[in-house]
Amino acid sequence: MDFELSDEQAMFRTVLQDFVRDHIVPVAHDWEQRGRYPTEIVDAMKSMGLFGLTVPERYGGMGADMVSLALVFEELSRGWMGVAGILGSHSLSCWMINRYGTEAQKARQLHELATGTRRTCIALTEPDTGSDLQGIRTRAWRDGDAYVIRGAKFWITNARHADPMPVLVKTDPSAIPEHRGMSILLVDAPADGLAIGRDIGKLGYKGPESCEVVFDDVRVPADALLGGVEGRGLQQALSALEIGRINVAARAVGIAQAAYDAACRYSKERHAVDRHGDASHSQPIAHLQAIQLKLADMATNVQAARLLTWWAASQLDTGVRADLETSMAKLFASEVALSSALESMRVHGGAGYSTELDVERLYRDAPLMAIGEGTSDILRLLIARRLLESAA
Ligand SMILES: Cc1cc2nc3c(=O)[nH]c(=O)nc-3n(C[C@H](O)[C@H](O)[C@H](O)COP(=O)(O)OP(=O)(O)OC[C@H]3O[C@@H](n4cnc5c(N)ncnc54)[C@H](O)[C@@H]3O)c2cc1C
Repeated sequence: MDFELSDEQAMFRTVLQDFVRDHIVPVAHDWEQRGRYPTEIVDAMKSMGLFGLTVPERYGGMGADMVSLALVFEELSRGWMGVAGILGSHSLSCWMINRYGTEAQKARQLHELATGTRRTCIALTEPDTGSDLQGIRTRAWRDGDAYVIRGAKFWITNARHADPMPVLVKTDPSAIPEHRGMSILLVDAPADGLAIGRDIGKLGYKGPESCEVVFDDVRVPADALLGGVEGRGLQQALSALEIGRINVAARAVGIAQAAYDAACRYSKERHAVDRHGDASHSQPIAHLQAIQLKLADMATNVQAARLLTWWAASQLDTGVRADLETSMAKLFASEVALSSALESMRVHGGAGYSTELDVERLYRDAPLMAIGEGTSDILRLLIARRLLESAA
């Protein structure tokens, strides 16, 4: 069993680390606090070809393997998780269009998506339902050579920049089972009746916008139906969410690693007198066992989360169904992000609560990892179902 990166993956990781050090770290704190959109970082990611991560080379993309994709999301999130969010749903949807799109859809969409000239997102969640996608209410019906879409989506990240916007709809609300009546339509923007509403206020995940989107009888050509066949939308979305779970698991690893790095650094700088132990002179808090226990647990958890993520990513690369593996990775890594951010804050004492250091941002960004692409409880249920099926 080999847990090492290939030479190519290791080189790619170095390039990413240099990019994050030079372009993201110097501005992340200030821009995140001010809620400034990271336009320059997006431009730099375009020139690096990162918007083409999941687009095959024949359409001008990178055609990266899933471990390399995990490296991108981990390294970006070590610098600023919000920036990784700009690439997240874009990469997932590019993968979905390439995997399920007709030849005409791929030829039309993927070249510009690969360069970032055009960008995309994924519109699944609605005001009344997120975990239960079969409960969506957005409808689309055929009208001559077009579909007409009516409904609303919620929390759609990158919505304001999305063209096309893949939207999960019900094309046959009476279908049983319900998923047979669900489809994805690629909505080119702008479109009459398509309104990107307010940016929803967020605890963290600053940088990308997450919006309400309203479809007021939006007409799209019939050939906007992903794959050209109705009734496959839920399956298309769920399989794209496997990539999404690698992306979120890797982001969680990046947050956890950054939390550990900050704690380790701070523990060597901050001094305290151990009046309860042998030494009564001032020493770095890193010398205190109480701090060392936290650092050891954090580092162990981060590495376990990273290896689980790489393992799940490798499974996806073999082309087999990997919802069990990707769910395990995302469940574990997101909980590690949460615990690491909190532990790092404890190591920092009062400084960790200050908006002058990055730890509080990690603490605000971490919870989303346990929500998007399946909440932790939904993933536990999915994992249990798969385990019980295979035990039968
Ligand atoms: C910042 C942010 C960005 C997002 N970006 C996007 C995006 O780009 N595109 C998109 O489509 N969506 C996006 N989402 C939505 C996200 O995917 C959903 O929030 C998530 O899937 C959970 O759905 P929900 O919020 O409707 O929660 P609900 O489904 O209402 O769940 C509420 C609680 O009930 C639990 N629960 C629900 N059903 C069950 C069940 N059957 N059994 C046990 N427990 C259950 C959940 O675990 C959770 O604890 C984003 C969300 C956020 C916060």
